[in-house]
Amino acid sequence: MAQITLSPPAMPTGSKRIAVMTSGGDSPGMSAAVRAVVRQTLASGCVSYAIYEGYQGLVDGGDMIKEMQWEDVRGWISEGGTLIGTARCKAFMERPGRLTAANNMIERGIDALVICGGDGSLTGADKFRAEWPSLLDELVSSGKRTEEAVKPYRHLNIVGLVGSIDNDLSGTDATIGCYSSLQRICQAIDYIDSTAFSHQRAFVVEVMGRHCGWLALMAGVSCGADFVFCPENPPSENWESEMCSIVRKHRELGKRKTIVIVAEGAHDRNLNHISPTMVKDLLTNKVGLDTRVTTLGHVQRGGPPCAYDRMLATLQGVEAVKAVLDSTPETPSPVICIVENKIVRKDLMEAIRLTKEAAANIEKKDFAAALKGRDAEFEEFLQAFNITTATDKADLLLPPEKRMRVGIIHVGAPAGGMNAATRAAVAYCLTKGHTPIALHNGFPGLCRHHDDEPLGSVREIKWLDAEQWASKGGSEIGTNRGLPSEDFKTTAYCLEKYKIDALFVVGGFEAFTSVSELRKARDQYDAFKIPMVCLPATVSNNVPGTEFSIGSDTCLNALIDYCDAIKQSASASRRRVFVVETQGGASGYIATIAGLSIGALAVYTPEEGIHLNMLVEDIKFLKDQFAKDKGHTRSGKIILRNEKASSVYTTEFIADCIKEESGGKFDSRFAVPGHVQQGGIPSPMDRVRAVRFGVKSLQYLESMYGKSKDEIAKDPMSASVIGIRGARVKFSPMEKIEQNETDWKDRRPKDEFWMSLVNVVDTLSGRPKASRST
Ligand code: ATP
Repeated sequence: MAQITLSPPAMPTGSKRIAVMTSGGDSPGMSAAVRAVVRQTLASGCVSYAIYEGYQGLVDGGDMIKEMQWEDVRGWISEGGTLIGTARCKAFMERPGRLTAANNMIERGIDALVICGGDGSLTGADKFRAEWPSLLDELVSSGKRTEEAVKPYRHLNIVGLVGSIDNDLSGTDATIGCYSSLQRICQAIDYIDSTAFSHQRAFVVEVMGRHCGWLALMAGVSCGADFVFCPENPPSENWESEMCSIVRKHRELGKRKTIVIVAEGAHDRNLNHISPTMVKDLLTNKVGLDTRVTTLGHVQRGGPPCAYDRMLATLQGVEAVKAVLDSTPETPSPVICIVENKIVRKDLMEAIRLTKEAAANIEKKDFAAALKGRDAEFEEFLQAFNITTATDKADLLLPPEKRMRVGIIHVGAPAGGMNAATRAAVAYCLTKGHTPIALHNGFPGLCRHHDDEPLGSVREIKWLDAEQWASKGGSEIGTNRGLPSEDFKTTAYCLEKYKIDALFVVGGFEAFTSVSELRKARDQYDAFKIPMVCLPATVSNNVPGTEFSIGSDTCLNALIDYCDAIKQSASASRRRVFVVETQGGASGYIATIAGLSIGALAVYTPEEGIHLNMLVEDIKFLKDQFAKDKGHTRSGKIILRNEKASSVYTTEFIADCIKEESGGKFDSRFAVPGHVQQGGIPSPMDRVRAVRFGVKSLQYLESMYGKSKDEIAKDPMSASVIGIRGARVKFSPMEKIEQNETDWKDRRPKDEFWMSLVNVVDTLSGRPKASRST
């Protein structure tokens, strides 16, 4: 226990003293959050502290509270776990422990605390703030501090960041670490899949989640599991026979493997625990399958954070410091959340209350209320999972007159998640009685329907074919950049010939253009007067009407793996800076978000271009950085340059220029990852979003079906784009987007939501404003 001292406290100098700590279970991305908080604090002219070992460090004081400098967090963005340590601290649960903690904070003059942890840690934080005035009073009344000494600290700022692999806090769609953990789980299940397939085995996989089934459900959605057990949605009373019948049915349809996922907190509707062994025994004895159990354990917490967690941790860390600086004594403590694609501040106590309410509802067996307490996404994913695994739900079948023949087509370059979206669309069709028809190899493939495709390029998709596509990269039905305008007449003829009632178009800017062209040509061709929806899928994330295209997350992960590897080589071998060329066409999205996720020194985008003065300033900046790095182990540095950022200042030229100007103090190389960026196996985020958007798109097409050709032609929503826009998932009318929101020349949205993030990359790398002032 640290000594309570009587030494005079350090007085605030006008700027805030902001401390950051990590607490509770560790999660990937916590170190990235600490880096962002430290650097944003320093960049805001404040003093930064790190509290080591969670609340234990706050109670112990002394060396456990350390002032942080810019260089102290170099390289932390890509580290797993938390580099400032975490702990569970009993002393902080009691008032005397919190009194000591308060005293330690006043001793250092700390007036704001950013805490990254789970609901327990954030509950402790809120309690600390609520008690703060009385803690100060007690310090004064007990004679440990004078009234004058505590006066500047009367207002304590607390900001919560949610770091947890379970994704169990209400109010945020994702917690820092949950997608990395999901990635670990999906990697393991993908590996298990191949052995299960080979031996026709069943595997029961136990994943973390004592009170929250997010990991289990998402793993189920992204890996195409047969059955999932999660605490907030226990299976029906007769779950044993229900599960066995689903698994049996899948086997009868030809599936060679069975995957069942069990959250560690799984139970039945009477709260009796359901263990992996119980599930295994059922599959062995009742279904006759050779079944194994795999418990993933702490593997799920480990390893480097995925791209999304690095970005989330970084942006939320920055937002936490801004929240500290904005706060007044009246502002309630905020927690930094994300809703779809928007970082928002919410009331910390309210988020904790809702989280606890969800747990209490489970205890009360009110599972409907428990589900409502999770974010809106959760229920949609549950619905999507049920639809993609249901094979014989007669009650879901629509009457024959409402059943559509749905054409599914991929357009443009392949992107991770295209197959998962198609699989979900197929499963939805089959569940509702629609006929899913693959239009192979894009519009040119459709137009060649009768000529050189021996099997025919227009074919019904069977459940078993699509069932295997959950985790497959590329495009199983083939994709092509060709547009309908290359042959409107044959396109119309084929849509009519094969009686296509609705069109699901998956792909990038060409897919978007295709739907736009078909819509505009409706007055010439009746065949195009059908509902159609574009699901954006491209590594470049440049489709208007959405802030997120499936495939872009896979690309970012491929890119950060690549950059991490070369960064390591750069710091291990010599003092070297790498200039890495990213894809993205005329959109700097990938370069910018990868820049945020790897801690790039600078990002060059086509939107901004590259100027000579920019290079001169950046070389000065590099010299300065290497000078400061003396003896530092993590000195690999990266500049990201989008492939179209400049036609003159090429990637190779920039690397040569830096080398030439370095005065022999450091080296520079260029690297072009090229098609590596399209990724191998799609990331879980791309897969789960593909499934969710695939199902939503089909529901949407279904809602349009039955209207007359004229009604369709007049309805602006009958040709639309599905996408994330700020905090919402929306269908937007193509007509409006193509006219108002599209930069057709540069093939990107006119207004790109991420543009301001280039400033964040600069702030956190310390790049001087002069670099971009020309
Ligand atoms: P995880 O999601 O990994 O469990 P968590 O933050 O919920 O993370 P906890 O063990 O619940 O982890 O809490 C971490 C620490 O936060 C505790 O050891 C304790 O120091 C502090 N804490 C938790 N609840 C309270 C509380 N009600 N009052 C004061 N401090 C608390």
